[in-house]
Parts: sequence; C-alpha cells; structure tokens
Amino acid sequence: MWLPKLRELREAVKSLFSRPATTRYPFKPATIHPRFKGKPEPQDSCIGCGGCVNWCPSEAIEEINDAEGKKRQVIWHLDHCIMCGECERVCTTKDGVKMVPEFELAVFSRDDLHTVKEFDLVVCEECGEILSTRDHILWMLDSLGEKQPANLGLLNEKLKKLGIVDDASRSITFDKRDDMFVVLCPKCRHRISLYDSL
Ligand code: SF4
Ligand code: SF4
Repeated sequence: MWLPKLRELREAVKSLFSRPATTRYPFKPATIHPRFKGKPEPQDSCIGCGGCVNWCPSEAIEEINDAEGKKRQVIWHLDHCIMCGECERVCTTKDGVKMVPEFELAVFSRDDLHTVKEFDLVVCEECGEILSTRDHILWMLDSLGEKQPANLGLLNEKLKKLGIVDDASRSITFDKRDDMFVVLCPKCRHRISLYDSL
C-alpha cells in the first residue's frame, strides 16, 4: 500500500530538479519531426489532371469544370482533409502536391481553408466534350517523347505552347483535311475519320 506512495513521492522530488517533459508551445514554436505529415499543398508541377480528385478518401478535393469558359479549378478543401497523404502518393506527376509540415490550420472562416488552382481546359472542337487540361496534355506529350507527332491534334497544342500557332491561325496546313489537325474527342475523331471523309 505504501510502496506506490513512496514511488510517487520520489517522482515528484525528481521532477523538481529535472527539465520539463512538455514544450512551451504555443508560446514557443513547436519542434516538428522532419517526417511529420501536415496539410497537402499543391505545387507548380500540378497539371490539374484530377487523378487525386477521384482517389481522395474523404472527398476533400473538388474539380469544377467550365467547358464554355475552358477553365478548370481544382480545390483542396482542408476542412475535409484527413491528412492521409494519398493525394501525394498517387499524384500523376509524382510531385503535383506535397504534404508540408504545417499543422496550425485554425481560421475564422472556412473559406480560408480552400486552396484553389486554375487550369486551361482543352475541349473537343467538334462537340465541346472536355478532354483534359492543357497542362495535362502537354505533360502527356512530353512523356510520349518521340511518339508525339503521332497525334496531330495534340501536337497542335504543343505548337501553341511554343508560340508557333495560336487559336486563330493554324500554321500546320498540309495538303490534307483540316480536321486532321484539330483537337477532337475519340468519338468525333472516329466519326469524322470513318464516315465524314467518305
Ligand atoms: S491528404 Fe488525404 S484527405 Fe487530404 S486531400 Fe490528400 S487524399 Fe484527400
Ligand atoms: S497533377 Fe497530381 S496533384 Fe495535380 S490534379 Fe493531378 S493528381 Fe492531383
């Protein structure tokens, strides 16, 4: 009965002469472990492909497409995020989003917990179907390497990036049908190639 009391007394006396086990946070900055996983932060290398949107287990990443305005917003809702790091793990470009060691996320308005990135969309020039973001298509072209010119519509996007052509003028004008060089969705490409050219 008296033994535990003696042990407590010894601990109390010891603690009087030892350094505190707790830190002075929030009066002093917290020491963060290098592998600490805080909030996800989208990087410049994000191409807006939307892969993480479909994967996020807590549906904390939203994709808003405006096909008419040809814009896509990818929004990270940190108020829904469970900091699991899955978006970083499955990212198409491997470094489009990073888990940074920031954990002080208290704000007065939930709107301040939204991180938004905006991208240009590429849509089918025949039916208006969304293909993907321009950055995503250019990233795919770079990944394809020497096979790039195989898809002339996508090559056109590359030439736009290089400033060789713009939306108003197509400088690739071979002695062929014009529709070979526009960006089309697979359905329109199939229809035009197989039937309209007959
Ligand atoms: S860390 Fe997890 S919950 Fe948060 S946005 Fe990424 S995938 Fe979603
Ligand atoms: S590039 Fe990565 S972070 Fe950006 S939308 Fe695609 S999967 Fe998400």
